[in-house]
Amino acid sequence: MSAQPQRREPPFDATRLANPATAALRAYDPGHDLPALRQRFGVTIAELGSNENALGPSPRALEAMRAALAESYRYPDPRGAALKAALSAQLGVDTGRIALGNGSHELLMLLAQCFADPAHSVVFSQYGFAVFPIATAAAGAQPIRVPALPREHASAPFGHDLDALAQAVREDTRLVYLANPNNPTGTWFGDAALAAFLARVPREVLVVVDEAYHEFADAPGLGTALQLAGSHPNLIVTRTFSKAHALAGLRVGYLVADPSVVAVVERLRESFNLNNVALAGAEAALADREHLQRSRALNASERGWLVAELARRGYVCLPSQTNFVLVDLGRDAGELERHLFERGVIVRPMGGYGLPQTLRISVGSRDENERLLSALP
Ligand SMILES: *Cc1c(COP(=O)(O)O)cnc(C)c1O
Repeated sequence: MSAQPQRREPPFDATRLANPATAALRAYDPGHDLPALRQRFGVTIAELGSNENALGPSPRALEAMRAALAESYRYPDPRGAALKAALSAQLGVDTGRIALGNGSHELLMLLAQCFADPAHSVVFSQYGFAVFPIATAAAGAQPIRVPALPREHASAPFGHDLDALAQAVREDTRLVYLANPNNPTGTWFGDAALAAFLARVPREVLVVVDEAYHEFADAPGLGTALQLAGSHPNLIVTRTFSKAHALAGLRVGYLVADPSVVAVVERLRESFNLNNVALAGAEAALADREHLQRSRALNASERGWLVAELARRGYVCLPSQTNFVLVDLGRDAGELERHLFERGVIVRPMGGYGLPQTLRISVGSRDENERLLSALP
């Protein structure tokens, strides 16, 4: 009697089981292994790759978070009522127009999941925020990537071309993602340009304006999209506590939109997406206007100093209204990035964005900025 013929199964691979939209995605590139680098370089590491806030959070936020820890055995408030009330009072919008997210990243993803599918297209700029194409792909929607303004553009090199973006909107477009100011370019557009853009876009197209860096911006003519929200029910503004409020690790973001938009997002939002420590920390950070002012002032002065010092050494920074600068080397930036990396200075290479000749450098503390400058070849 012969043995049963061995049937060889191919190795198990769950990718084949994933839905098509997910199977086509690539996992987030987390950049360098920072915990390992901290071990290697110790205190001499300068982390200038993630646009974190060099000042650190409000002491009042830290105190509120410590107090909230004792309550962590309970579920957090699924409505985030206290934080929403504080936001409502400060922004002058009804709480029914606010949704909270586990970082604004979550909200940007949720919006695509709620409003787009394979039958719809989503419009964004060529060098827009990296989450926009990911959110589009996760929803299985069709991306429309609109060429950016040219490098030579006077005020917004590589920035959003609002004219081209408006023209790119099709019958099947459900969402437009804009970032103002934008990451990684640092560029911005004024309120009047946004108003003109909204006038050209049908009301059935939702326009998301990601204002992650809003608090740092002080350019003339650049206020906030929020003032247009009342007159444009299709306008959605997202903000975050990760940047100017220096709470990136807490994961708190919010959006302001028409109550009907909020109602749709609430259907998909995980009920406890914000933990109780984050809710308490964000609420206290919002109340500490002085700390926010310090954060803005420090960023403005350090950014000015850094740009000038880089310019003295022959490095060209593109205009920025954020807490980072995009340095245009005019040649491949890989070598400089590795050179800095070997000296414990972490900056972000932009090849993944299609800008291989640039490096994105966050504005650090004076100490970190000096480390960067002294590590330059
Ligand atoms: C950093 C950043 C965010 C914020 O993301 P969170 O998830 O809130 O930390 C959103 N949009 C842009 C353009 C950013 O650079």
